Amino acid sequence: MKILDRLFLGNIKDPYYAKRRNNLIIIGHSCFPDDKCFCHSTGTDMVEDGFDLFFTSLNGYYLIWVGTDEGLDLAIAAEELLEEDITDEVIQEYVIWQQIRSQRFRSDVPYFKYLADIMSLNYDSEVWDQFGNKCLSCGTCSMVCPTCNCFNVDDKIMMSAEEGIRERMLDSCMLPYYSLVAGGHDFRPKRTDRIKLYYTHKLQEYIGKWGQPSCVGCGRCVEYCPVEINALTVAEALYGEVGQTKEVLDL
Ligand code: SF4
Ligand code: SF4
Repeated sequence: MKILDRLFLGNIKDPYYAKRRNNLIIIGHSCFPDDKCFCHSTGTDMVEDGFDLFFTSLNGYYLIWVGTDEGLDLAIAAEELLEEDITDEVIQEYVIWQQIRSQRFRSDVPYFKYLADIMSLNYDSEVWDQFGNKCLSCGTCSMVCPTCNCFNVDDKIMMSAEEGIRERMLDSCMLPYYSLVAGGHDFRPKRTDRIKLYYTHKLQEYIGKWGQPSCVGCGRCVEYCPVEINALTVAEALYGEVGQTKEVLDL
């Protein structure tokens, strides 16, 4: 959500997004990684802000972090349910919980912090064509990705021709018609180009602008792409080329 906020509440504010966002209370809940998740590599396994309340589930109780004044109001409203004293046992349980959680990660991208450079160096790599030849252009990766935000605006005109509805809906830059514009020109007709745009935007350009990827390492594309094109396989394939170079250089 913090990533989407930068996009929709930045220099040009989206009034519809802003209105809903202002009316929202965010309550987070801790989680343990599954075998697809690599959020510790993208630096998104912990948040220090962006929530009103955050619940860490410990041994039969919650440790609750208060992030905003609204969160504090909620906590005060439910004070009969809460204990204010944080004992040494609670602190120890929390530290152990953190240790166990960090050991549970099974997917890892240790070179993630160099990925923007790796992608830049591999801009013309054949890897992109290999992925492009496999991609089904189904758009599933966009539909499951929590940070994808491409949209289309559709005008529906009523039979009377006096009224209409303008709707905005989620779209995907991976779909063939996304880049088709008036006059029939398609500025990104190849699957290779669409995949390159998708991952360059998430893993390179966003880092250049905001210092972190727009991929949060949730692993949903890992779970759902039917042909195993995802943030992990793309990163591995591009890093593989650098790895071969490393061998040639005997480093
Ligand atoms: S892991 Fe995949 S689905 Fe999740 S944020 Fe990154 S690109 Fe999107
Ligand atoms: S990368 Fe995978 S999920 Fe995304 S459009 Fe291609 S086949 Fe579908």
